[in-house]
Amino acid sequence: MAQATERLKQELRKLRECKQRLGDFISTASDLLWETDAEMNFVSGECLGGAACKDHSITAACPQITAMLDELRTGPFSDSVAARESYRGLEYSIPGPSNTALWLESNGNPVFNAAGDFLGYRGTCRNITERKANESTIAFLARYDSLTKLPNRVLFRERIEQALARATPESRVAVLCLDLDRFKVVNDTLGHSTGDALLRTVADRLSRCVRSIDTVARLGGDEFVVIQVGLEKAEEAAALANRIEEALNEPCVLDGHYVTTKITIGIALTPEDGTSPEELLRHADIALYRAKFEEPGTWCFFEAHMGARVESRRSLETGMRDAIVRNEFELDYQPLYSVASHEVLSVEALLRWRHPVRGVIGPNEFIPIAEESGLIVPIGEWVLRRACRDAMQWPGGRVSVAVNLSPVQFKSRRLVAAVKEALAESGLPGHRLELEITEAVLMQSGEATLRALHELRNLGARVSLDDFGTGYSSLSYLRSFPFDKIKIDQSFIRDLTGARGGAAIVRAIAGLGASLSLATTAEGVETPEQFAILQAEGCTEVQGFLFSRPVPARNIPALIGQIPPGLPESDLAARFPWPVNRLPVPNGENLVLR
Ligand code: C2E
Ligand code: CA
Ligand code: CA
Repeated sequence: MAQATERLKQELRKLRECKQRLGDFISTASDLLWETDAEMNFVSGECLGGAACKDHSITAACPQITAMLDELRTGPFSDSVAARESYRGLEYSIPGPSNTALWLESNGNPVFNAAGDFLGYRGTCRNITERKANESTIAFLARYDSLTKLPNRVLFRERIEQALARATPESRVAVLCLDLDRFKVVNDTLGHSTGDALLRTVADRLSRCVRSIDTVARLGGDEFVVIQVGLEKAEEAAALANRIEEALNEPCVLDGHYVTTKITIGIALTPEDGTSPEELLRHADIALYRAKFEEPGTWCFFEAHMGARVESRRSLETGMRDAIVRNEFELDYQPLYSVASHEVLSVEALLRWRHPVRGVIGPNEFIPIAEESGLIVPIGEWVLRRACRDAMQWPGGRVSVAVNLSPVQFKSRRLVAAVKEALAESGLPGHRLELEITEAVLMQSGEATLRALHELRNLGARVSLDDFGTGYSSLSYLRSFPFDKIKIDQSFIRDLTGARGGAAIVRAIAGLGASLSLATTAEGVETPEQFAILQAEGCTEVQGFLFSRPVPARNIPALIGQIPPGLPESDLAARFPWPVNRLPVPNGENLVLR
């Protein structure tokens, strides 16, 4: 008896332990437990928390249960259930709070009695809503760009393959490669958040230009691509390109900055420009590259002869890396003359690249590439050092040297130090250095840029606002920093005698300069007529081919020095062995200038 009692006690202890263990498992599982009868009707259950249900009671009417039982009857595991087998990983959803879906995963085992009769199923349900959300986020990120929500490279690839599979000679596919002109400069100068906002705006505007059957994708950076399908004629791609340019050339206000962008587009079409995704993309990209360097802000169709020229541009990019060490850069100098005294006041350094194969390349061709690659920083430092050194060789010790600075150099933070070094190394006094910046520099987000400008000025350097009148809201920039000089852009000088009001603009700028006590330089003066008007309108300095083209440093000493008043022309010719311009001035006298 005592033995039997002892055995019972032991059994009871084991049972308690067992229950305790089960309880432990149950309390740590955020699951719902359930049990059915042999007809697959809900018998009992317990909800152990998680998000599966609020109170812990669970009934046959709970949506978790009814939906699961439906799935077990008709869903992917119905055969297993009919065969009374275990199943794992049945995923199903029920409506959750505020229009979301609650996702559940059910596992179940069949239950048999000792005689082997089927009694029903027992199993668990787990809330997998979070996992599902993560999975769908991952699936989204794998195929979409998270910044703009546009298809990314992967989905682009799928879409273009589908489009090409359906293409026929009557239903062609166009690939449009897009590039935001100088996006990198906006990004570097206004900061990444403005750059991002710009990309999102572009994505929105692009999406509005296309039909739902077309695709706009972002392949990376500022690289956008459009797949246009079902074209009968090439003109339809041209019409889309026009629509896109119109939509994107609208200025936008981003983080309080007024930003204008231009979009350049290259287009390739099936079947003549290619029938594979690679070929079409490459050809659209070649057309883009071509448009970008020849006429940014326009679009152009691929043409077979473009390939070779684009390749040579690409090789420029590579060659530029070694150009400094190979000593291939050179500076030419172009004088700026005082309108009042006709003497040379300063000389502007203009960069050239003596390319080993292509000969001399002008800055408009390679500086944008140098800016995009960041190489403008070391190149710009070389320009500063060389210009300061050259200026020390000029007679009289009065003429200044003007150096152009790129917005990208301001971003690098090395600029002030580089200017200091160039001055110290050469011994040039700070006041003989002029720095020419464009409004793009002032668009750089605030303090750091202004601080750098003030530091440069504390070194004695003077600061000129170059290309004035093009681009942005000039007047506010003029107020943000005490400039020494405004350089009126060439386009207004060219237009001086034309109908588009160049003279009125020059008059306004010269007037503004006078009231702010700033020098005003007219750039690109080519004819005596232009000079006469500029003088009458009160410009204080002139620069242009009429007086001198940019020349090598060794020619500058001969150009410097005031022309003595009253000097007879024959003596002039003897003393100054370059062409002399005799200019008609408004009061009818002739003025000698060089
Ligand atoms: P910019 O600063 O506006 O320089 C004046 C440009 O106008 C020069 O072109 C000059 O040769 C040209 N020019 C001068 N007078 C006349 C004229 O009467 N008629 C015409 N049609 N053109 C005239 P360049 O040398 O090709 O330089 C182009 C631009 O490249 C410069 O424009 C400047 O923005 C940039 N650049 C040149 N050197 C440097 C440099 O060292 N650093 C940086 N960041 N930019 C530079
Ligand atoms: Ca300049
Ligand atoms: Ca200029």
